[in-house]
Amino acid sequence: MPLYHDDDQAMLADTATSFMAEEGSIAKQLRHWRDRDCKDGFGHELWKQMAEMGFTGMLVGEDDGGLGMGHVEAGIVLEEIGRNLTPSPFLTSSVLAATALKHGSNDLKGRYLPGLIEGESVFAVAIDETAKHRPSRIACRAEKSGNGFKLTGSKSFVIHGASADMIVVAARTSGSDEDADGITLFAVPKDAANMSHNAVRLVDSSVATHTKFDGVELDGDAVIGEVDGGREILNAVLTAGRVGAAAEGVGVARGAMDMTIDYLKQRKQFGKLIGEFQALQHRASHLYSEVEIARAVVIKTQQLLDGGSEQAELMSSVAKAKVAKAAGLAVKEGVQMHGGIGMTDEYDIGLYMKRDRALQEFLGDAYFHANRVAEMSGY
Ligand SMILES: Cc1cc2nc3c(=O)[nH]c(=O)nc-3n(C[C@H](O)[C@H](O)[C@H](O)COP(=O)(O)OP(=O)(O)OC[C@H]3O[C@@H](n4cnc5c(N)ncnc54)[C@H](O)[C@@H]3O)c2cc1C
Repeated sequence: MPLYHDDDQAMLADTATSFMAEEGSIAKQLRHWRDRDCKDGFGHELWKQMAEMGFTGMLVGEDDGGLGMGHVEAGIVLEEIGRNLTPSPFLTSSVLAATALKHGSNDLKGRYLPGLIEGESVFAVAIDETAKHRPSRIACRAEKSGNGFKLTGSKSFVIHGASADMIVVAARTSGSDEDADGITLFAVPKDAANMSHNAVRLVDSSVATHTKFDGVELDGDAVIGEVDGGREILNAVLTAGRVGAAAEGVGVARGAMDMTIDYLKQRKQFGKLIGEFQALQHRASHLYSEVEIARAVVIKTQQLLDGGSEQAELMSSVAKAKVAKAAGLAVKEGVQMHGGIGMTDEYDIGLYMKRDRALQEFLGDAYFHANRVAEMSGY
């Protein structure tokens, strides 16, 4: 399969590019909400507009009222989100939670998917329990209680945790903390008693929570999939999320790179445009190549995932690690090539560095994924 978009995907890319540049721009969204210290860290009005564009339910099957599109299409939207640093719950709700809900009962789908498709609801996903991504260890426990379960434990860095209408929680229903089996996913509603959030603003101005479950009573129908059978669903959620985060990272890299190349064509020093200095030309062309390679890896991974390939899981880690390197280079070179003003808040380039830092940590950094590739390849 070629590593570029087909006609329909190219049309979607045109639409997403102009919509996000217009409505999701840094001035209209990121700076606007950041400077108002918005408790959610994103605008609900934009979320509704994204629903009107058909974006929110892209990965929801047509039988469930969605568009039944794939990860290539979701990645197109995510790349534009990254390019414009648009704060939105698209990745957590429309990619991660939507992937989990694919495995849910008709009752769960009926309860939550219409709100997602209409842009009325926001979802979060709670997996990690420490500062670093480590999904192999799930200590948060759900014990049988009457016809349902009682959830006890805590989750860290739950993106949009406090604004979410529902949180997908990975909990242990049997076995010990490090066991691969014995995991169950639950759809925990916003108003669940004995759930508390400690909200923290991250370096990119997004808001996450450290969430505590202190004996949260859940009905049996809150279970997504089978009791004790959640590991496979969790892996599917993580793969979709990592590929999505990688696509957003490509957008961050491209946004930072484009802004920097524009700057090289405007800024004069020693009587010349700085872009005329060969030292900077070499660095810019190296950066361009790295971003193109990262983008190709991401498109390949999206295609494999949409095609149901067994390689998609391994490639999701290749993509996440490669993008972390390329986007890291893009934001560092961006700030460096802007000179002193690159350090200031007046210029947007530093905001790319901040988003890159948060995105790199989300669902595993470059080291986590390089190690995962090695382990999955038998090393
Ligand atoms: C944290 C911080 C504190 C500072 N404190 C002070 C201070 O106390 N006093 C003060 O006077 N200044 C201060 N500065 C400013 C600092 O000295 C300048 O930022 C620095 O000299 C670079 O100049 P510039 O910002 O105009 O970048 P520019 O000269 O515009 O450079 C932009 C980019 O072009 C590259 N470039 C420029 N010329 C060439 C060339 N001929 N060949 C190849 N590449 C080139 C640069 O390496 C850079 O990547 C500070 C800067 C920072 C970041």
